[in-house]
Amino acid sequence: MKKYIFLYVLTFSSIDLFAQKNNNVSIVQQVNKLLAQMTLEEKVGQMTQITLGVIATNKDGVLDKDSLKKAIQNYKVGSILNVTNHALSVEQWNKLLIEIADEANKTRLKIPVLYGLDGIHGQSYTLNATLFPQNIGMAATRNVELAKAITKVAAKELRASGVRWNFAPVLDIGRQPLWSRFPETYGEDVYIGKTMGAAVIKAYEEDGLKSTTAVASCMKHFLGYSGSRSGKDRTPIYLPDIEMREYYLPQFIEAVKAGASTVMINSSEINGIPVHANKYLLTNVLRKELGFEGLIVTDWEDIKRVHNRHFVAKTPREAVVMCINAGVDMSMVPNDYSFYNLLIEAVNKKEVSISRINDAVNRILTLKFKLGLFDNPYPEKEALQNFGNASYQTLALEAARESITLLKNMANILPLNKNTKVLLAGPVAQSISALNGCWSYTWQGKDEQWYPTDSKTIYDAFVDKIGKANVITTTAKGFDSKENYDTAALKQQAANADVIVLCLGENAYAESPGNITDLALDDNQQMLTKAAASTGKPIILLLSQGRPRFITNIEPLTNGIINSYWAGKKSAEAIADVVFGDYNPNGRLPFSYSRSMGEIIFYDRKPTEEIREIFNDNAGLGYNPLFPFGYGLSYTTFAYSNLKLSSTNLKGNEDLKISVTLSNTSTIAGKHTVELYTRDLYASVTPNIKRLRSFQKISLKAGESKILNFSINKSDIAFVNAQLKTVTEPGEFVVMIDTLKASFKYQ
Ligand code: BGC
Repeated sequence: MKKYIFLYVLTFSSIDLFAQKNNNVSIVQQVNKLLAQMTLEEKVGQMTQITLGVIATNKDGVLDKDSLKKAIQNYKVGSILNVTNHALSVEQWNKLLIEIADEANKTRLKIPVLYGLDGIHGQSYTLNATLFPQNIGMAATRNVELAKAITKVAAKELRASGVRWNFAPVLDIGRQPLWSRFPETYGEDVYIGKTMGAAVIKAYEEDGLKSTTAVASCMKHFLGYSGSRSGKDRTPIYLPDIEMREYYLPQFIEAVKAGASTVMINSSEINGIPVHANKYLLTNVLRKELGFEGLIVTDWEDIKRVHNRHFVAKTPREAVVMCINAGVDMSMVPNDYSFYNLLIEAVNKKEVSISRINDAVNRILTLKFKLGLFDNPYPEKEALQNFGNASYQTLALEAARESITLLKNMANILPLNKNTKVLLAGPVAQSISALNGCWSYTWQGKDEQWYPTDSKTIYDAFVDKIGKANVITTTAKGFDSKENYDTAALKQQAANADVIVLCLGENAYAESPGNITDLALDDNQQMLTKAAASTGKPIILLLSQGRPRFITNIEPLTNGIINSYWAGKKSAEAIADVVFGDYNPNGRLPFSYSRSMGEIIFYDRKPTEEIREIFNDNAGLGYNPLFPFGYGLSYTTFAYSNLKLSSTNLKGNEDLKISVTLSNTSTIAGKHTVELYTRDLYASVTPNIKRLRSFQKISLKAGESKILNFSINKSDIAFVNAQLKTVTEPGEFVVMIDTLKASFKYQ
């Protein structure tokens, strides 16, 4: 019997492999056949991506027939992206994409158009699609399966909208908390970034790109985009190769291995070279070293900017030549046809070779074949059933709950009793946009008229939970309403309340409009906190924010603090669940919550950031954040014991097994993430104080204990040396789980 099963499995999987290989062979043949028939104009058209605005009328979701014809027939455009002003309904998307497909069908070679959108935390641009926590919140969940699950919903809702290419995930490391795109990152740690990033890419693509449950993913933004020195979006990055390879590249290495189909390039410059024109990064590193074979697309208008913003190309054509020769396959032009004209000119002048053009078009056509666009370029009817499933709301609630991070709980003030009389104050209390953040039905996410009508504010969720009579508020709708900062009203109302719940943070923003000059929470919100404190009532601070705004001055005035990042559709419900004890929090910070600008240090700091020079006593306390990376309280208490290593010696390619016991020492069930760190004691490049190497999240019933098993090998403890090679040097290492430690030698 066993033998038959074995034979069956073997035959079945070889048929599968054979079919897949055959499919690839036939895609190669079909692409070559098509390429052989294409004119230069048709090829360059494929490399041209325009924005919807170029072909749209002023009416929502309605195309301008002449402009559409011009784009597809005259300029042979291969790809379109974006929305005009705000999200469209599924029906509007389907209608619009049918018209585009119809137009492409009238062309000589009937090459379908590839449509791309930014579904950043769920499908951002379809009305009523489910929005989940931003990546920064997903990183706090430390729940890779949950990240995959929400990604699959995003893929389904995109595909139901007729869109097969998603510009996500962002893999940029979050090491510049000022940066307005910090919420789109998985935080400051390399291991979390590469683990979550790779899992999410698999989730987008693993069903097979032809499937109605998958979309092509896009690794963003290669490379180093998050490292802006000023903290402003799209401003210069200075990044030594050793740092780039240690902290910024690993996420992309894993993402390529996970099968990412496309990549988008960093809009900025590194060490004075615009990344779009950097052949070393695009061709040598991405193509050759990482072996990436997919499609390279520029970011918004970025070829033009090599000329008019970076000033390294003297003319717009020189910019096109530089970027295409560096390795770019498709230009997100996206507002006109200048790229099309300039590239044709450049090829005719032999500034760009036809083989480079063929290479680029080959990759674009290959993706279109893989996505099934040549079989059926229209929105797939069967995909529609995957839109708006009720289970997505449950998942959104689960994800929001798991992201919420309890940062302070003096004298166990939380959870609050449901009979508590609460005074709800602050600008987030009646805001929906401040719970969702960037890329939420509009690019900036601020305009609440496009949110689903059943979206709840914290005020609504509190009323649902404890009844209207128990919720007093001084707030009004709209983050900026002056009532929300009325300190006199707050003081007056406080007399009627047992506790003041301050809902503070940031309203939604995306990209450059989110640039700020100071991380401190704004003065109005600080004053509100001080007014609340003057009443003598206990204060619970609920923070909803994309990046860690400094609260150093007001933290001592509070009794409890909850950070919910921007947790999406079910933020308010999840926050109320945590505040009133219907959910036991388990999120852990994916960044170091610093105290001040001069103290932005990461958890994996170098020893010299801790061990001070003798005469340098005033320099600060080394790593001394308000809340460290990995911090997060629970209503449960957990205890660690029995850290065991399978050996005290790790040789060659062997695995080192590590186990630890986690016990729930309280009377309620809870989830907890166990994090395993290592320290390399001495190395040729100054070692980090510690590095996260693995984590596991488990649930434990009251009083329950479980043994967790980990395994690491030499690649897990490797680093980039001065010759830019990733190496594991022999020596002593320490394994750290919570406060437990054990040592081993690597030989
Ligand atoms: C952003 C990208 C995004 C693109 C298309 C750019 O401004 O930097 O992340 O994918 O726009 O919307």
